[in-house]
Amino acid sequence: MDSQIHKIHQQLVNKEISCTALVQEKLDLLKQNTNHTVNSLLDSLALDLAAKVDTKIAKGETIGLLEGIPFGIKDVYMVQGTYTTASSNLLKNYKSAYTATAIQKLLDAGAIPIVKENCDSFGHGSSSENTIFGAVKNAIDPNLVGGGSSGGSAVNVAKDYTVFSIGGDTGGSVRQPAGYNKVYGLKPTYGRISRYGLMAYASSTDCVGPIAKSLEDIRIVLNVMSGKDIKDQTTYVSEPISEASLSSSQDIKTVGYFKNFIESEAIDAQVKADFLASIDKIKAKGIEVKALDFFESETLVSTYYTLAMAETASNLSRLDGTNYGNRIEAENLKETYAVTRSENFSEETKRRIVGGNQVLSQGFADEIYLKALAIRDQISGNFETDFNEVDVIISPVTPSTPPKIGNSLKDPLAMYLSDAYTVGFSLGQLPTLTVPQGTTTGLQITAAKDKDELVLKFANFLKDTI
Ligand code: GLN
Repeated sequence: MDSQIHKIHQQLVNKEISCTALVQEKLDLLKQNTNHTVNSLLDSLALDLAAKVDTKIAKGETIGLLEGIPFGIKDVYMVQGTYTTASSNLLKNYKSAYTATAIQKLLDAGAIPIVKENCDSFGHGSSSENTIFGAVKNAIDPNLVGGGSSGGSAVNVAKDYTVFSIGGDTGGSVRQPAGYNKVYGLKPTYGRISRYGLMAYASSTDCVGPIAKSLEDIRIVLNVMSGKDIKDQTTYVSEPISEASLSSSQDIKTVGYFKNFIESEAIDAQVKADFLASIDKIKAKGIEVKALDFFESETLVSTYYTLAMAETASNLSRLDGTNYGNRIEAENLKETYAVTRSENFSEETKRRIVGGNQVLSQGFADEIYLKALAIRDQISGNFETDFNEVDVIISPVTPSTPPKIGNSLKDPLAMYLSDAYTVGFSLGQLPTLTVPQGTTTGLQITAAKDKDELVLKFANFLKDTI
């Protein structure tokens, strides 16, 4: 698929379509959709902005590439004056007081936000069923889950309800739903895009990530959102990635993959066969492919969930009905906190808060939390060694195909294990992209920190290779 952003931009400039008609068409599609992708529509804001773009065009003024392009936002980003619910009962009526940096940069470039998108509550989940807005249905087969936690965002892109959407990826939440709905989804290097205004889940792995139908659109949106932000001290200055740079893959000579991912008993036979066939096609192009050793899936999943639960328990402690959240009054203050949180958080979120507080508590922290931190260091060390040997690492996005709606809720542990291939790259804070090719749920491409360009280059090369 070619760039939709470029195509729509030309249509607007040539006056083949009006921005108002375009935005209205997308709003109508979103309103009628039966996949449960919408938490709230930003119709009046979007139509006001569209009218301004139309006026500019009518006056013969030049418009920027992103000006007038309608996009979606996972409902965990602050956009001043809009509902930001995190798909939770607790924040059902919460309105953002300010706008997230990443979203502000898109607004400054003239892109038009049209929808706050359904997702797993606070990013907790892999299926977008942990939500008060109804389970998100897969774009290809509505009996299957949309993936998660950025399920609504991936489905909206797949269905052309949005031109691109901004998801959030802590342990796979952009990459996995992108794979489940056959679109591109990027988790950039941690710190490339500011997290300011993204509701915190696990701060040490949270990343802002674009979802789109073409690599070029991912590149455009990534460039706009990237950059140092004094409001997020983990951000860094990065070079914009040029369109031309993607067309040469000469600097990619060696590709690695994790042997144990592919030899695992948990992998679906078809996913395995497709992945191995992709490897053969890559080799046939003269690229060396190396099988690498890596940590067992169980170790990756336990390490990730220990740290993610610890961080989310800490981050969500502020949601007690005092400054934020629907307060439920009880006999005294302590009871008020307890009832507010017990009644308003979902089962899955409560499981994580309880688990997180447990691993952080005295008597357990050394053995569990600190151990997870130590393993995380080993995982990062392993990646460093790997990237001395290979330029990029590829892997399937998930061991199996999307589950039927309802199944993940019955077995949380199985859901956690379905994240086996995405969480390691999150712990390593590495740039990782899902491409909608190679297996039924796509392929992930990963490179060393800040080598986001290399990831996009290899994805471009794969377009004609597999
Ligand atoms: N499925 C993973 C989790 O529940 C990842 C979610 C995410 O990236 N927000 O933690």
